[in-house]
Amino acid sequence: MESPLQEYLDELIDRLRPLDDGEVNQATLSAAEPHRDHVGITLTTVNGNQYSAGDCQVPFAIQSISKAFTYGLALDDLGAERVVEKVDVEPSGDPFNEISLQPDGRPDNPMINAGAIATVGLIKGRGGRDRMGRLLNTYNEAAAGSASTGELKVSDQIYKAEDRTGHRNRALAWLLRSFDIIESDPEPVVQDYFRACSVMLTVEQLSMMAATLANRGVNPATGHRVFSPSTTSRLLAVMSTCGMYDDAGNWAIEVGLPAKSGVGGGLLVVIPGQVGIAVYSPPLDEHGTSVRGSAAVKQLTADLGLHYGDAP
Ligand code: GLN
Repeated sequence: MESPLQEYLDELIDRLRPLDDGEVNQATLSAAEPHRDHVGITLTTVNGNQYSAGDCQVPFAIQSISKAFTYGLALDDLGAERVVEKVDVEPSGDPFNEISLQPDGRPDNPMINAGAIATVGLIKGRGGRDRMGRLLNTYNEAAAGSASTGELKVSDQIYKAEDRTGHRNRALAWLLRSFDIIESDPEPVVQDYFRACSVMLTVEQLSMMAATLANRGVNPATGHRVFSPSTTSRLLAVMSTCGMYDDAGNWAIEVGLPAKSGVGGGLLVVIPGQVGIAVYSPPLDEHGTSVRGSAAVKQLTADLGLHYGDAP
């Protein structure tokens, strides 16, 4: 018999399909079959059980959701004190691509593009893997064991589109170099940022990544520790305040859970200690957040009373 949760998710997806607002991102349009009517949701419990509805095995680009996992790797590599010397943890309230640097050149936080590019610059090759190999390995460790099989990989098509159109990101990288926030050649750093944004995954895999964060950094399906507990806790705090950019305040009121959006149409939400949620649907609102993704999470939060303000 179908579980009540499964039935609920199936109904939620049926209700969301007709919601046809928003624009699909340019880089997404350059890839094969960018369906604006795609919508899928997966919930993964900290026991590793997955509940999915809709288009849950369609690959899409992770885009800015990669920033959270890149930040986690930098924190585990260098420790929070060394990372904060280069990238602060204050919400900017600005759009994701804002040139928002402090007087000493530090980006406000690692979720805006400037901060994410600086964070990529902090990660070095190690143990036979180069920087991009290590980033991809971290994303894969967090996503492993979902109902979608297959490894996360960089889409060459999306990467080329990011590289061709990413003038502002390239400018940010050079600006960060001028302040010595990036201490090496900025070009390979911004290239790896583009590659990290172009990693393809399904909503089932993204949901397992969310569940890894919900489970204090341990992938619930494989039992592998991806991030230390202190890194995970810092990451969730920064996602809560900065993950939704210039929509963070409104998100705190309506959802009240750590979240990260990406212009590929993915949205990752964490209920610490309980569940990782991921939604995928390509059309985006003015903040670069999936329209159906945002609607799904707001509905789910209201129906299940997940907001911390609703605690009994
Ligand atoms: N690749 C996109 C950019 O750098 C990522 C932005 C996003 O997903 N919000 O502009």
